Amino acid sequence: MIEFKEVEKRYGHFSVLDRLSFSVKPGEHLALIGPSGSGKTTILRILMTLESVTAGNVLINGVSLNRETRSGVEVEASEAHLRRMRAEIGMVFQHFNLFPHKTALQNVALAPVLTGRLSKNDAKERALQLLEKVGISEKANEYPARLSGGQKQRVAIARALALQPKILLLDEITSALDPELVEEVLNVITDLRNETDMTMLLVTHEMGFAKDFAERVLFFERGKIVEEGPPGEMFHSPHHERTKSFLRKVIAAGHRV
Ligand code: ADP
Ligand code: MG
Repeated sequence: MIEFKEVEKRYGHFSVLDRLSFSVKPGEHLALIGPSGSGKTTILRILMTLESVTAGNVLINGVSLNRETRSGVEVEASEAHLRRMRAEIGMVFQHFNLFPHKTALQNVALAPVLTGRLSKNDAKERALQLLEKVGISEKANEYPARLSGGQKQRVAIARALALQPKILLLDEITSALDPELVEEVLNVITDLRNETDMTMLLVTHEMGFAKDFAERVLFFERGKIVEEGPPGEMFHSPHHERTKSFLRKVIAAGHRV
């Protein structure tokens, strides 16, 4: 479903992703872990077409994200191509990134209307259903400033689902929340995991959650995969010294493994 092939991302001379290759199967739930700066957000932002790659190729269902063929010639992807590819993918950010001057309902209904997928009325109806699904329909007409962090993040999840994506990207979605609000957001993710066939990529420091969520964990350092495996093995008997020391630090910071 997703394939990174020798992907490089550089800013000037600074290399963020270093010939990175990995693939994700349809319906797989993957956890991406690793120290700050190891490239996890960059991977998700590339998939969301918010960042370009310096070299290499990213394929979604066999179609290149960053290149397209026009009149038989392979060229850099156009904005129209990126938009088509992006329509299959939803992303939830650490800091919610809701539109502050739109209500919860308007935040969720916007993309289906802008992309011409749904009429205003249908988009509104779907937005209400999604807000209900994340348990927050009673806040439909509130602006983000009047919502708690957990409520904002649930609106952001509903918004990410509005175009019915096949791939859902979750970037440290509970890191900015007060501890007592983490669970309400993770419960929504657990339901989505169990009730849909979306392919899901989760960047997290919540190792306890990653263990229940993911079939496979990738541990990154400096834009490379150091180690990967099923969560039980990765968290309890990691092979690499770097993985061990990272997990020790995460536990010391108060996260459950
Ligand atoms: P992570 O999510 O694992 O913490 P990121 O993908 O956010 O890591 O960042 C990886 C590295 O890329 C970091 O060192 C970061 O400073 C750098 N980086 C990210 N975006 C930019 C940018 N726009 N310009 C320069 N460096 C960047
Ligand atoms: Mg990050």
